Amino acid sequence: MMRWMRRGFRRRPHDPERNAAEYVTGELSKRATRWLEAHLLHCEDCWREVLLGRLGRRIAAEAREQASAGLRDRVRGAVQFTSEGGPAGPAESLGP
Ligand SMILES: [Zn+2]
Repeated sequence: MMRWMRRGFRRRPHDPERNAAEYVTGELSKRATRWLEAHLLHCEDCWREVLLGRLGRRIAAEAREQASAGLRDRVRGAVQFTSEGGPAGPAESLGP
């Protein structure tokens, strides 16, 4: 196990999933960011996690935008409908 450890422990121990997650969300400190960016050049595990993290965030953001656009249309439709038939309810209570 851990073949790289036998080679002299020259590399800083890394946690690809956590490092990458913190990197793509901007939670890493400036020093840790610099270290990780240098580290990514020769560590395929961390590089892959960063790519996956960015891709995942983009998909999540797009899904959220589409969902909220659909919700806005539904809210608008509901508001138009209720304003024709009577007093409009508080649309804000439907959530973000
Ligand atoms: Zn790494």
